[in-house]
Amino acid sequence: MRKIDLTSFQIATSETARDINRRIVLDLVRTRQPISRADLARCSGLQRSTISLITEQLIEEQWVTEGAMGHAPRGRKPRFLHLNDERARIIGINVRPAVTTIALADLSGRFVAQESIGTAADSKTFVADLSDRVRDFIRLHPQVFYEGIGVSLPGRVDYASQRLVFAPNLGWRDVDLKTPLELTTGLLVEIENAANACALSEMWFGRHTEGLHDFISLTVSEGIGTGIVTNGQLVRGPTGMAGEFGHVLINEEGPLCRCGNRGCWEAYASNTAAVNYYAQATNGTRKNSANRDIPVPTFDDLLRLAAQRDSKAVEALDRMAHYLGVGIAMLVTGFAPSVIIIVGEVTRAWERIGPIIKRVVEERSPMPSMTRIIPADDTAHPRLRGTIALILQKHFAAPTTA
Ligand SMILES: [Zn+2]
Repeated sequence: MRKIDLTSFQIATSETARDINRRIVLDLVRTRQPISRADLARCSGLQRSTISLITEQLIEEQWVTEGAMGHAPRGRKPRFLHLNDERARIIGINVRPAVTTIALADLSGRFVAQESIGTAADSKTFVADLSDRVRDFIRLHPQVFYEGIGVSLPGRVDYASQRLVFAPNLGWRDVDLKTPLELTTGLLVEIENAANACALSEMWFGRHTEGLHDFISLTVSEGIGTGIVTNGQLVRGPTGMAGEFGHVLINEEGPLCRCGNRGCWEAYASNTAAVNYYAQATNGTRKNSANRDIPVPTFDDLLRLAAQRDSKAVEALDRMAHYLGVGIAMLVTGFAPSVIIIVGEVTRAWERIGPIIKRVVEERSPMPSMTRIIPADDTAHPRLRGTIALILQKHFAAPTTA
């Protein structure tokens, strides 16, 4: 139950009630479609006449369409209602250190077009590149009504100013992507941290957290991020900085992290850490037949080598999995969530790393835990799909006074 905030509240008008009911009906259509008006009334507890009024309005605004005729034993046959996926499109942008993906999705979060650009090392160059590409992308799809642009970034975002504060793995500080993108496109732009975007993706499109209000999305990539949902809401903290568990110290004398501190969790358990373990283990042995240095592999290479049973690659991956377990035990002990969903390339090796992670978590948790630890479906593109949810939630989420 939430306490009423007496310093900032909005009294309920009949319009508030209508808005809440409209959002409930719209979300029921989205999640239960195809659905008849009678079933909407049953699911929502609203009067049939209220449902009729709301659905007429939603059809008029083109959020909802009427589809096939249903069966009824007698009387008028019901018509099923669907979400009108064609009403609008949303652009999603996922920024990662090497590659940035730009995608076009419908209102159900299905991607209908996608392209990639290299992520420039310098933030100013990148913002200029991205603005140009997004403008070209929109020109390529001129028939579309755009609802907005969602952007996921590998760093923390100041929620109020919508500026990227710090992205250690990009080396960027205080970057404004929102203003230039909005000026270029004339569209609403929403910025979010990648792990939070994954949590939103799970909340709006996921299969693992239906009916659950406490879960954590853990992104494992060049760094580590956590998107924490408690009581059905993302934990942001007053400035949006909450959730930086990748930079929580697990060893004071540990290796240097890109944030400037030592011994952060991500310096032990990220893709970058695993590649470093492999490079250290093969130091001086990575020569080809002409005695030339073979370059350090990427994390994808490492996964491939491990799948081919390369012992040093397997060791590097096992060590990474061990430290993932160490940090996850901290999350399980601290938050006791229902589920922790791991997002990232490493989940492709889940058969190997899953049991290691679970064993370490069990050994390190002082109390028996009910938390399920599961891999996200990599093909669902959770980082990108979360950017679609960022825009979608403006229409479908419960109204807020914040
Ligand atoms: Zn750090």
